[in-house]
Amino acid sequence: MKLDVNVLRYLSKDDFRVLTAVEMGMRNHEIVPAELIVRIASLRHGGTYKVLKNLLKHKLLHHDSSKYDGFRLTYLGYDFLAIKTMVNRGVFSSVGRQIGVGKESDIFEIANEDGTIMAMKLHRLGRTSFRAVKSKRDYLRHRSSFSWLYLSRLAALKEFAFMKALQEHGFPVPNAVDCNRHCVIMSLVQGYPFVQVKQLQNPDTVFEKIIGIVVRLAEHGLIHCDFNEFNIMIDDDENITIIDFPQMVSVSHRNAEMYFDRDVACIIKFFSKRFNLSFDANADDSDSDTESDSVKPRFSSIQKASGFLDKELSASGFSRKEQADIEKFTEKIDGSDDEEIEDDEETEDDEEIEDNEDHDSSKLNASDIQKFDSLCSLTKDDDDEQPGNSGDVVEVQQNSEGKNEDASDEVEDEEQEDNPELEERLAKQRRRAIQAARAGRKTHASRNSYKDKGGKSSHNSKIQKGNW
Ligand code: ADP
Ligand code: MG
Repeated sequence: MKLDVNVLRYLSKDDFRVLTAVEMGMRNHEIVPAELIVRIASLRHGGTYKVLKNLLKHKLLHHDSSKYDGFRLTYLGYDFLAIKTMVNRGVFSSVGRQIGVGKESDIFEIANEDGTIMAMKLHRLGRTSFRAVKSKRDYLRHRSSFSWLYLSRLAALKEFAFMKALQEHGFPVPNAVDCNRHCVIMSLVQGYPFVQVKQLQNPDTVFEKIIGIVVRLAEHGLIHCDFNEFNIMIDDDENITIIDFPQMVSVSHRNAEMYFDRDVACIIKFFSKRFNLSFDANADDSDSDTESDSVKPRFSSIQKASGFLDKELSASGFSRKEQADIEKFTEKIDGSDDEEIEDDEETEDDEEIEDNEDHDSSKLNASDIQKFDSLCSLTKDDDDEQPGNSGDVVEVQQNSEGKNEDASDEVEDEEQEDNPELEERLAKQRRRAIQAARAGRKTHASRNSYKDKGGKSSHNSKIQKGNW
């Protein structure tokens, strides 16, 4: 996935406000009707439609009229919301090259004001697996594709919570820095993915270290569940770092032993193939039960502390309910529990519920608006408080020409080159929204304490060019 952070500098405060409104609408709408976006965003009359066009142009939104007319966030739109929030929090100030592409994530280098380089993992649950699951079982027939938003957020939260807890218990994991939406910020691991390593000075020692980690995890009540050469990093001194935690389960999970054995088997297989380590006569056959007990730890003989990390995990905001939701999803992807797929709609919370029939904008209530205001305050620019100092500064490493055009000019320019069909639909919706507003649904004006000064002065996406 291409992440062109240059686009950030063309985005105004209004753009982010509308993007946030779509995000909020997606809490209970797969596709958010424009009318609802207008109501949530509460921009000047008609202003929202212009902004929607800009967001569509930059592919931050997707326009969908298959079931009914509306918009949904794209991954890129979600990325930008998370990035903007983190930048405003001062977590980092520039995004650099992509350093990893996982099955369900993209990893980028980022840097903070001090020049410290870190890693940003953007979770993309649903990029591959939703499609796979859909074709397999049509699991999603009662729900919508938008659950990726909820699941990716859960995956990030889980990863962050586990990384933090593991770090506190002395496991060799990256330093967990921050988390927002589907985005996790962590320290950059020095070294290489183990899969790239062809030779080791001390393969036996490294093997013992790695197996030792699997055992110690189990002693702490946890199983990694994807413990393989892709999720182990190793440096020149053969120090190990473990990454990638969204699929971890507790040792009390009903398939715990199978997951544990699978993690161990992956390591044994890799070491015997890559480094010719022979564990016993049957070392090549990692599925064999005859591997030496001294090499292959037995799940049943490990003293396991269950619930050991529970406190730390819930302190990071990762609850049992969230654990259950994400486990359900990963198991379905795994395919191992295919026949156990059940209709779990009643367990969905309002973050992920989708109701195609119900896209009545009157559903919006005061607490939604309150949430929206707090969301906006997370993404709002700092320049209200600090005149002349834009909170929007994002340095980019790419070959930007350092253009600093007013975003509103951009919007005017592209006005002509738009899809006439969409244009017409938008105009129609705009008329409807204005009518609705005139008809006395005025709550939205007062609901909202967000101050938008409007006009060109509100376009403050000043970007400094970075060259780190
Ligand atoms: P996925 O869950 O999609 O498999 P991973 O967390 O395993 O994603 O990351 C994918 C790749 O990105 C890794 O194999 C590694 O090369 C790189 N990577 C991930 N996290 C870091 C990090 N903190 N520092 C350096 N490289 C990383
Ligand atoms: Mg991985």
